[in-house]
Amino acid sequence: MSEAYKIIDHTYDAVVVGAGGSGLRATMGIAESGLKTACITKVFPTRSHTVAAQGGIAASLGNMGPDHWTWHMYDTVKGSDWLGDQDAIEYLCREAPAAVYELEHAGVPFSRTQEGKIYQRPFGGMMQNMGEGPPAQRTCAAADRTGHAMLHALYQQSLKYDADFFIEYFALDLIMENGQCRGVIALCMEDGSIHRFRSHATVLATGGYGRCYFSATSAHTCTGDGGGMVLRAGLPLQDMEFVQFHPTGIYGAGVLITEGARGEGGYLTNSEGERFMERYAPSAKDLASRDVVSRSMAMEIREGRGVGKEGDHIFLHLDHIDPKVLAERLPGITETGKIFAGVDLTRQPLPVVPTVHYNMGGIPTNFHGEVVHKRDGNPDAVVPGLFAVGEAACVSVHGANRLGSNSLIDLVVFGRATGLRIKETIKPGTAHNPLPKGSEEMALGRLDHFRNAKGGTPTAQLRLDMQKTMQRHCAVFRTDELMAEGVTKMEGIYAGMQDIGITDRSLIWNTDLVETMELDNLVGQALVTIRGAINRKESRGAHMHEDFPERDDANWMKHTIATFDGWGGKGGSTSLDTRPVHDYTLTDEIDYIKPKKRVY
Ligand SMILES: Cc1cc2nc3c(=O)[nH]c(=O)nc-3n(C[C@H](O)[C@H](O)[C@H](O)COP(=O)(O)OP(=O)(O)OC[C@H]3O[C@@H](n4cnc5c(N)ncnc54)[C@H](O)[C@@H]3O)c2cc1C
Repeated sequence: MSEAYKIIDHTYDAVVVGAGGSGLRATMGIAESGLKTACITKVFPTRSHTVAAQGGIAASLGNMGPDHWTWHMYDTVKGSDWLGDQDAIEYLCREAPAAVYELEHAGVPFSRTQEGKIYQRPFGGMMQNMGEGPPAQRTCAAADRTGHAMLHALYQQSLKYDADFFIEYFALDLIMENGQCRGVIALCMEDGSIHRFRSHATVLATGGYGRCYFSATSAHTCTGDGGGMVLRAGLPLQDMEFVQFHPTGIYGAGVLITEGARGEGGYLTNSEGERFMERYAPSAKDLASRDVVSRSMAMEIREGRGVGKEGDHIFLHLDHIDPKVLAERLPGITETGKIFAGVDLTRQPLPVVPTVHYNMGGIPTNFHGEVVHKRDGNPDAVVPGLFAVGEAACVSVHGANRLGSNSLIDLVVFGRATGLRIKETIKPGTAHNPLPKGSEEMALGRLDHFRNAKGGTPTAQLRLDMQKTMQRHCAVFRTDELMAEGVTKMEGIYAGMQDIGITDRSLIWNTDLVETMELDNLVGQALVTIRGAINRKESRGAHMHEDFPERDDANWMKHTIATFDGWGGKGGSTSLDTRPVHDYTLTDEIDYIKPKKRVY
């Protein structure tokens, strides 16, 4: 190392990395139980990507029509294309109503029905009567600013408890010892100081890694840092090939138009003015699940029925809806349409295109939030001291495809479950063993390497190459040939990390350095994503493999488990394994939902 870094030590019962919906809910629960808790976040808590969630949060409250948690469970299993773990899905759907009432009591200003109950809108794939229909109104909403409302309420609540917030601290790497997590190392971005957190439990709540792709609805901060740390610790990620494209990102800008827009009656048309979803999904139409709608749009565009000069996008119509309803239920997107598409959506259609939106894959956990990794033949062995929640995790409740409004509920249900597990297993004030010698070496070696990187390729160049490659070679339609080319390109880009050069050598607000470490996190995950995709010889959920257009339950109803060896352009190999899908439920109140063909 070219310089000795000064390290400031901290000791906590539990440390949460991330202050989005999942991280804040976990922090709140842990702190509430009297454990000494820290929450580390690279952006101010209320700037986490959760703030951008528009449409709402799913729970079978039945405020606007009949509903039941078992119906929600059926839809989630079907939405997952039978790749979700059914014990975890049961837990999610059963706990969902209580979690929403908890948010209501925490101060989330939900929209209301005439009788004053929480307003619920229809969302894609959410049905009554175990998938039979009609659509269920299950998605609880605070206008089209649900995530914003949730994040502010959760942050205010967590301040009430005695958690310490480390804001604008960038977590670098986990501290691991003999397969156990002992804490985490972070950089304070403001003054460049290095902080070593020793803790009995470390919770990764770092969000998704959508920024692997060129056009994404997620914030520029969604760089999958938790996944990067896990890979460098030699632990695997699960089901990374399943990347959700949202049907309605604004063409060009990538900014999201919520599915709630179609929930409120919006519909899609092609260049012939045809409502083509009626052909692809005769019963659910524009409210079929996201993978189905995205694929149908891509098909229309490919067959020459796209709109616009280059025929490369689709129109979303809201111009038939009463402007009063739009102003009340969808005020945010009315504004978004004006700013990002220059369109008055009360009178004109919006230009939209499928855009990367959500990562189903992530750090494998059980429904207590405990990270799992195969040991002595047990695929579900717990990694002591390490937890993951939210989009960073793969519980797996979303399987091969997440239903809209099922992420926000995942954040709070499993954020809470993680808090409960930590409370159960750690007594406040439990003594800490000394940390292993050199516990900071990995993190600081990597920091120092990039800080002094003098190569010829700027970070932004490599990042753009990665994003374009993933967008072209690992998107809505996939073939072996296209992906094989993509793997070769991605390997070249990864090797290119050895020639990276940054210009700022300071430690004070060095965004050049932080973005480079973020890119290093992204690029490993991009590689396991595309390698997992080419390896899976079937089509399931968001993974549409044109050479293998059918789902193949006999050979592929299993999770992909992938590790990655290396960082900074060195090494770079992946080993792929599988993990059984949980084909059992949690209680005998519901039986295992058997696979069926997935039609909407
Ligand atoms: C535009 C948009 C709209 C959406 N709408 C909906 C919706 O209506 N309904 C729904 O269910 N889902 C929706 N989703 C999905 C859902 O919002 C996200 O999956 C969810 O909010 C992710 O929450 P999270 O807690 O996992 O992470 P995030 O909210 O992404 O937060 C990540 C946190 O980790 C911290 N962090 C990351 N890396 C580091 C590091 N190295 N060091 C320190 N801190 C770090 C960040 O500072 C941040 O606090 C939407 C997503 C998008 C992008």
